Amino acid sequence: MTAPLPPKVAVAVAALESPASAWLYDPGALTARLAAVRAALPEWTVLYAMKACANPAVLAAAARYADGIECASGGELAAAQTAGAARLAFSGPAKTPADLAAAASSTTPVCVHVESGRELDHLAANGFTGPVALRVNRGRALPGTHRMTGAPTPFGMDEDAALAAAARALALGLDVAGFHLHAVSNCLDAAAYAAHVTDALAWSAAAATGRFDLRYVNVGGGLGADPRGDVIDLDALAAALGDTAAPYRAAGVELVVEPGRYLAAAAGWYVAEVVDVKSVAGQAFAVVRGGTHHFRLPAAWGYAHPFAVVPGPRTGPVLEDAEVRVCGELCTPRDVLNGGQRVAALAPGDRLVFANAGAYGWEISHDRFLGHPGPDLVVID
Ligand SMILES: *Cc1c(COP(=O)(O)O)cnc(C)c1O
Repeated sequence: MTAPLPPKVAVAVAALESPASAWLYDPGALTARLAAVRAALPEWTVLYAMKACANPAVLAAAARYADGIECASGGELAAAQTAGAARLAFSGPAKTPADLAAAASSTTPVCVHVESGRELDHLAANGFTGPVALRVNRGRALPGTHRMTGAPTPFGMDEDAALAAAARALALGLDVAGFHLHAVSNCLDAAAYAAHVTDALAWSAAAATGRFDLRYVNVGGGLGADPRGDVIDLDALAAALGDTAAPYRAAGVELVVEPGRYLAAAAGWYVAEVVDVKSVAGQAFAVVRGGTHHFRLPAAWGYAHPFAVVPGPRTGPVLEDAEVRVCGELCTPRDVLNGGQRVAALAPGDRLVFANAGAYGWEISHDRFLGHPGPDLVVID
């Protein structure tokens, strides 16, 4: 049911102290995914959206091998600079005056993805000399788990407002480079993603005509990598795009994609040791050291994250041939990592390993709740 663990992951799991509770990160898995994106989109600039996974080793690999880092907060901007990124993009709908001042004084080149007219005023007041791209909320829906467009969301500006913002930015003396059209997360449909790209490019070229010289179109992130294992077919994406990029590149437009999930998902494993097994009201349970306060994604989305069992020294009752519900150590019935997966045998001391957990795993978790010790953070390079 679940793929075998890579040998170095199995070794790292075995080396954890008991009761094990850990995140394992392999920066090499991120760079392998990055290579796949570059192979499929050779004419594109690839930025890493660091909010998917900001583990320092993973971020360092992205800073080194991606073209730059996409940041969504002032804190991320500082971390990406520290990690040595060659260039930055700064997005996010709640940039404070201090965040915008930090962008203006950055010694690393930064393109600000502007979400409103207010941001332009702060950038101009701080003497920002870098490029700005206007974030457009185009009102189209794309298949995926999180849609930023196609329904009212606080991200970006309506088309008319974006064009008015372009005029305002030019009047303020800012360098308007283009548009930012991040629209979706976890899109597994290559044809739909290709249509988004084609549409974003055509809209941007038309919108810039007669207003400013278009140099930059950023289609956002959203390349799908589902935590249950499915990924977007990059060959199909490349085939669907054909030579769509060529005329834009020939006209001097930089084309940018900024995936987070697709790059980070395969680079992280969550490990939780079974503390107890029992049956309550006919349901088999495994209770682990850890839970959704370390790995919130399954609870946030309401799905069962598949796991592999690494048998430990079995120190208690053994559950045999059962469909087990895996729960964490929190005092809430919502602390469920997997609502039911069949196991041949399971006992206290066994370690459960959740693969494809690197994106939006530890980053989105609420580890203060109940005051349990945090997970070990282990790099298995
Ligand atoms: C989160 C985010 C991304 C990355 O999205 P993924 O679905 O992880 O690829 C890219 N751009 C912006 C503006 C974002 O907010």
